[in-house]
Amino acid sequence: MRPMDKQTLSFQAEVKQILHLVTHSLYSNKEIFLRELISNASDACDKLRFEALDKPALYEDAPKLEIRVWFDKDQKTLTISDNGVGMSAEEAVQHLGTIAKSGTRDFLAALEGDKKKDANLIGQFGVGFYSGFIVADRITVESRRAGLPAAQGVRWTSEGTGEFEVETIERAQRGTDVTLHLRDGEEDFLSAWRLKSIINKYSDHISLPILMPKEQWDEEKKEQVATGEWETVNKAAALWTRPKSEITDAEYIDFYKQISYDTEPPLAYTHNRVEGRTEYTQLLYVPAKAPFDLWNRDKRGGVKLYVKRVFIMDDAEALMPVYLRFVKGVIDSADLPLNVSRELLQESRDVKAIREGSTKRVLSLLEDVAENQKDKYAEFWRQFGAVLKEGVGEDFANQERLAKLLRFASTHADEGVGLADYVARMKEGQEAIYYVTADSLAAARSSPQLEIFRKKGIEVLLLVDRVDEWMLSHLYEFEGKPLQSVAKGGVDLGKLQDEEEKKAAEATAEAFKPVLERLKAALKDRAKDVRTTTRLVDSPACIVVDEGDMSSHLARMLKQAGQSAPKALPILEVNPEHGLVKQLGDDARFDDLAQVLFDQALLAEGGQLEDPAAYVQRVNRMLGGAAG
Ligand code: ADP
Ligand code: MG
Repeated sequence: MRPMDKQTLSFQAEVKQILHLVTHSLYSNKEIFLRELISNASDACDKLRFEALDKPALYEDAPKLEIRVWFDKDQKTLTISDNGVGMSAEEAVQHLGTIAKSGTRDFLAALEGDKKKDANLIGQFGVGFYSGFIVADRITVESRRAGLPAAQGVRWTSEGTGEFEVETIERAQRGTDVTLHLRDGEEDFLSAWRLKSIINKYSDHISLPILMPKEQWDEEKKEQVATGEWETVNKAAALWTRPKSEITDAEYIDFYKQISYDTEPPLAYTHNRVEGRTEYTQLLYVPAKAPFDLWNRDKRGGVKLYVKRVFIMDDAEALMPVYLRFVKGVIDSADLPLNVSRELLQESRDVKAIREGSTKRVLSLLEDVAENQKDKYAEFWRQFGAVLKEGVGEDFANQERLAKLLRFASTHADEGVGLADYVARMKEGQEAIYYVTADSLAAARSSPQLEIFRKKGIEVLLLVDRVDEWMLSHLYEFEGKPLQSVAKGGVDLGKLQDEEEKKAAEATAEAFKPVLERLKAALKDRAKDVRTTTRLVDSPACIVVDEGDMSSHLARMLKQAGQSAPKALPILEVNPEHGLVKQLGDDARFDDLAQVLFDQALLAEGGQLEDPAAYVQRVNRMLGGAAG
């Protein structure tokens, strides 16, 4: 690259917005800027260590990676320095200003909704560098990329308003110095004591040494003065390597907060040393609250892979199935090779074994909570249930265990019904697990198809999550009991219906045949069949789909998502015991009634009329005759 004269560049528009918010409206937890800058320094060291696996020359003559923090009271500056991978001039321009990252928009939205204006939010969104401007009115970054000559250092400076400057500088030292010029009023950060306490609070888990100038009390000057030596101020102890028996609950929670940016304690955690063909330690946490980006299936990994305490990757999918993307933590392998590429690691049998083992661990943890802390599990389910359902279709090896963890609403309870609970409550002679899918609980509860089940006191699961239909296409049975939609196929209550009822129904159907034929003819473009049913009690008619056809709820969801659904006509079922239906055969308005019956059945199950105006006209005709 050619040397670069001083250039002034503009921040990207969204970055400007962030900077404005950061400098004007983040009031609480200002101190987290230090965590963010130390975390960037630590990331830069991890990156160097990884790149140097193939190219040891990148270490130059400084193989010992470390972070240094110092301040200058007179200049009112605070510097965070690392000898990690550094940045080239282009990288500085890109990473620190011109390109807004994917988290930017989400961060702006989250901040808008946050009353506390909590600076803590910033780290979750991948825009942590800008938190420096909470306390600084100018930031200078000096850096040199590992592997580049000293002449290709870069200086980046900005006041955190609209613009920044970059220029090429001479820099012997590899890595990055970030210097904050503190705002008036932020002088309390110019204190070794204060800085140490922030580092202990947020950055103890950083596995590199964080060094600060050692100070000593000067009796004459009556103040702390530098001794010229450096001291390590963080514990740099990887919590997960210590024996379980020596770690307190508070330490586990602290560590979770440090790695997750969560302010609340986790819902549950598990810490184990796994021995056998592959040996590793896992410390895995289930958060208490869903993160803002729970629905982003490609989000950054919550689980980090270390090999003998050296960070290797946080490739989410290699370490955890997508449906457990909310899990946070650390996996540290004792026997993976350090010097292989990420690509090879993802293919590695050992990594696969680790992933399988860790998945099982998380499932055991959830089973334990479900079994022993029901309220906690209910809360977990509210936060993450819909995500866990993805697993039923994605992880066949664990499908049975996942099915046991599912919770639903039903006609018997508003929430928390497990399939095992359902099976335990099944009526004598009941052979299937019944469910209905709908857009909302209210719609599910008022489905006409439920009427007979209600009357007989048979429980029906009410499924209203968007993923439910998809999940059910992968889950056919539970403990040998088939799952059956109450809106699909003929209703066959099997042994739940006694012989007399069956005989009576058959006789009614026989007597009703001529009317059915007329209905079929009247509705031939709209219904593939019209038949009598015993599933209705109070409603005159309902719509069902054929056994092999797609449910109308799923067809509607596909349509809303802009996808085409196969067009199969539904079946209209009528209730021959209903007054309206009984008189149908003698009514002069037969054709109108047939259409209205169909339209109403469609409306009752949440469908939309193709020709609402025609429906209104027909109903009006029947209510009062045509105008004039
Ligand atoms: P994140 O760390 O989540 O990527 P930040 O806003 O904290 O987001 O940092 C932005 C980017 O700037 C980093 O991804 C990295 O590329 C670069 N960067 C920041 N600090 C350093 C550093 N000390 N050394 C090398 N690169 C850095
Ligand atoms: Mg960062």
